[in-house]
Amino acid sequence: MSKFWNSRTRELSPYIPGEQPQNRQYIKLNTNENPYPPSPAVIEAITRAANERLRLYPDPSCTALRDAVAERRRVKPEQVFAGNGSDEVIAFAFAAFFEGAYRAAPILFPSITYSFYPVYAHLWGIPYECPRVQEDFSINHTDYLKACGGVVFPNPNAPTGMLMRPEHVRAIAQYHAGQSRRHHAVVIVDEAYIDFAGYADAVQHAARQTSAVHYIEEYPNLLTVHTLSKSASLAGLRLGFAIGNEELIEGLCRVRDSFNSYPVDRLALAGGIAAMKDAAYYEAITRTVIATRERVSAALVEKGYAVLPSRANFLFVRHPAMSGSEFFTVLRNAGILVRHFNKERIADFLRVSIGTDAEMDAFLTVCGST
Ligand code: PMP
Repeated sequence: MSKFWNSRTRELSPYIPGEQPQNRQYIKLNTNENPYPPSPAVIEAITRAANERLRLYPDPSCTALRDAVAERRRVKPEQVFAGNGSDEVIAFAFAAFFEGAYRAAPILFPSITYSFYPVYAHLWGIPYECPRVQEDFSINHTDYLKACGGVVFPNPNAPTGMLMRPEHVRAIAQYHAGQSRRHHAVVIVDEAYIDFAGYADAVQHAARQTSAVHYIEEYPNLLTVHTLSKSASLAGLRLGFAIGNEELIEGLCRVRDSFNSYPVDRLALAGGIAAMKDAAYYEAITRTVIATRERVSAALVEKGYAVLPSRANFLFVRHPAMSGSEFFTVLRNAGILVRHFNKERIADFLRVSIGTDAEMDAFLTVCGST
């Protein structure tokens, strides 16, 4: 605490990101980064953009990037918003669509989910309620079919990796669309991991089938959020985007332009555009990550571990005998970093990002010998 902090700063409880070790070399399975490099076309585009034009501000409306996203996702450029990582896009969405006023209706997000949501809610003074995820850790979509200030959840959920069926996502959007009753609210579906929702033999098809992007024309209250940090292997570039109805996109622009008109820099724009255009490369590495996930999951089940059914680029895993913190320490001492959330119901689980096959073999060796 500092006497110079205002009351808002004193009351914040900031998000704590996974460790980025600066000294010892770990096998890093703690922040859901992609183990494979970004497309060579991305590196080339960024290198080309590192030129004298960096003296100029970037395009504030990210036109060329939005065009590239729109083409890839088969939507209109006006239905796309780009930001400095999807965390920023989500923060803007909370500010734009959820009410922070005294006695506002609470927003809803699951009891076990991405731990940045309560942080943003506190930052903007938005009240929230957290429907309890079921015994098997799945989200019961009917918990979200009630009047509220808004809804946000990741699909697949984090840190469980579990996918909500598209028809249930759709039912939530429909309930809050305000078509048949006076109630209306924005539903944010955070699709950070949706590209991994398929199986190795049907990557594109399954990701397309499961994404809520299909429903944005139908439900003007539905905002989907995406990141280039996971499937596009660009966590270091900080680029995320939202896809939704034009009115929602305009709302996000209003918040952005009241905060920072240039959240996406010239290098990120160049890299993001190249990433959107190299679908073939990304399909190939996504397929590899999914195949590794399925192999490691089966091997862990074989060894007696509990493994939730993941459709993301990580596994949520419980050791057959050890507590979560003991198992975390064993792995750390063996040079493997994973993520432990010391929270109710999940304290005995560890979230393990999918690395290369060699990294996962090293992980399985430690799992087999403890
Ligand atoms: N949503 C979820 C569910 C996540 O797990 C993450 C990664 N921590 C993000 C959003 C943010 O990703 P980024 O800001 O790197 O785009």
